[in-house]
Amino acid sequence: MPTPLIAGNWKMNGSLDLIESFGRALADAELPSRLEVALMVPFPYLEAASRALTGSRAALGAQTLSDQPSGAFTGEVSGEMLREVGTSLVLVGHSERRTQFGEDDSAVLARVRRALECELTPVLCLGETLEERDADRGEAVVIGQLEAVLDGLEAGQRSRLVIAYEPVWAIGTGRTATPEQAQAIHAAIRRRLARYGDGLAEGTQLLYGGSMKADNAADLLAQPDIDGGLVGGASLKIDDFLAICQSAG
Ligand code: 13P
Repeated sequence: MPTPLIAGNWKMNGSLDLIESFGRALADAELPSRLEVALMVPFPYLEAASRALTGSRAALGAQTLSDQPSGAFTGEVSGEMLREVGTSLVLVGHSERRTQFGEDDSAVLARVRRALECELTPVLCLGETLEERDADRGEAVVIGQLEAVLDGLEAGQRSRLVIAYEPVWAIGTGRTATPEQAQAIHAAIRRRLARYGDGLAEGTQLLYGGSMKADNAADLLAQPDIDGGLVGGASLKIDDFLAICQSAG
């Protein structure tokens, strides 16, 4: 069973003050011993967060990266830059990037490759829309997104991914997937990972994301194939975030 991971995705929210409060609270918190924690903060806060999280167990994450190493790409941020300011994880293929910024499967693969080249852990996000689920295509969509990346990587690279299942209809809606719905897709992801070689299925952290909160986290995290959470809204309130971390222990 992989070590549980609770990652907070602040999206375009937060402030320097909030970073400081999280740093203090995470350093003081008595977290379960078998738990990894990460905070994905907006680019301008990375450096401050890197300092604020020193002394806590939380790793630092970014929310996206460029598919290019450097050059004339105004507004973009490279994997090397993220490394330089202490980032160790990066979200790739979040549904908000896929839908609002036109990142298709090949753009997602390019970013996963760049993250790996920069020694960043890509947290690959997968998820179906409500229309796709209602048309009974949810699992097929998620597996298709997964294969689009795995097929483009070498065997040694695949084991360096974290995978997050985030049904689009559950993100920011307050409508969480039931533990059974989430477990079914997680099990399908794990079965597919098993086809790519020994140990990949057992060793890969599979996170659930989509309206995970302090009061539903324990039931989700109790599922056999849910190894952690990718938390949006509830990761902006320290008490809620710490409560979710406690349920993962
Ligand atoms: P919410 O927890 O706000 O639904 O967001 C989930 C998410 O998109 C995390 O990446």
